[in-house]
Amino acid sequence: MTNEAFVTLVTNDSYAKGALVWGQSLRNCGTTKKLVIMIGYKPEPPLQAVMEKTFDELVYVSLMDSGDTTRLALMARPELGVTFTKLQCWTLTHYTKCVFMDADTLVVENIDDLFEREEFSAAPDVGWPDMFNTGVFVYKPSMETYGKLLELAKSEGSFDGGDQGLLNAYFSDWAFKDITKRLPFIYNMAANLTYSYLPALLRFGTEVKVVHFLGQSKPWNFGYSAESDNVYGGSMADNMFQTTKPFIRTWWKVYNHNVEPLFEKKPEGSVDVPEYPKSSAPVSSETNGSEGGKASGAATPDQWERGDINYTGSDRFHNIQRHLDAMIYKNANDY
Ligand code: UDP
Ligand code: MN
Repeated sequence: MTNEAFVTLVTNDSYAKGALVWGQSLRNCGTTKKLVIMIGYKPEPPLQAVMEKTFDELVYVSLMDSGDTTRLALMARPELGVTFTKLQCWTLTHYTKCVFMDADTLVVENIDDLFEREEFSAAPDVGWPDMFNTGVFVYKPSMETYGKLLELAKSEGSFDGGDQGLLNAYFSDWAFKDITKRLPFIYNMAANLTYSYLPALLRFGTEVKVVHFLGQSKPWNFGYSAESDNVYGGSMADNMFQTTKPFIRTWWKVYNHNVEPLFEKKPEGSVDVPEYPKSSAPVSSETNGSEGGKASGAATPDQWERGDINYTGSDRFHNIQRHLDAMIYKNANDY
């Protein structure tokens, strides 16, 4: 019998929030695989209790406790701290195959079919498509591979200072050797970069399976009002914000519906302090020039070519939002 797992990593409370949404989003999509969280710090007991409810296995990882090879490599390359922690996913050898996913990813459609792929499968990076992005990858736990990765880290370091540079150096034939190891972009869609190729987002947006909030602005840095179904705050350039917003909204819906209720009720008489003061919240979804505006219908190919595009056309973004909503509500009966 095979034993397969989705694996993520957290080293602080913010990413823990992301991981909880990630785990719940996988459950909403009906995964039959195990969910594993690698934890590189000491979460407070209430958070740890919610992690225990959400994941099948909590694996505490510590850089300095994980054997001589790691310690030596780390002394040589102290800047690779979080990278080394992520590599420890190869030590989970009680699983036959795993899919590692960043804690800033959100699953909107079942992706168990990823386990039909072999090590090392990943989707192209949007910055340099001959490289893969390490937010989602299929791998086979192995102490031997782990040792080799650490050796490479020690001898060469990582050319981008992170796990992505190192793993691309190690699995360097990914771009040209075996096309089955190149995951379609819908398994790791960079949410905040969708603005750079809008026609593609509008064409393929409803097929997306995994949304990745890579970059500096994470969904938990924004506010969300369930009442107005509006996302606000955060710091993101406006053009980027417009196209990222439907995905942030969906992330928050999963947080509110599936994660928040897992925390123990507060003692009676305690007062909720909102994360953002009311006055900073836009009065309506149109304040941010959003898809809620009075937008035109679908642009024709002709209009696209002329650059005459209403980027925030309501019908288009609503299609994507409707799809995302349908996905997250489909398997959850408790809404
Ligand atoms: N991570 C973490 N703590 C950190 C930074 C990163 O736990 O302080 C983990 C987390 O799983 C995160 C992954 O490492 O998703 C990669 O970092 P991030 O997603 O921020 O990188 P990006 O995708 O933006 O390049
Ligand atoms: Mn990420």
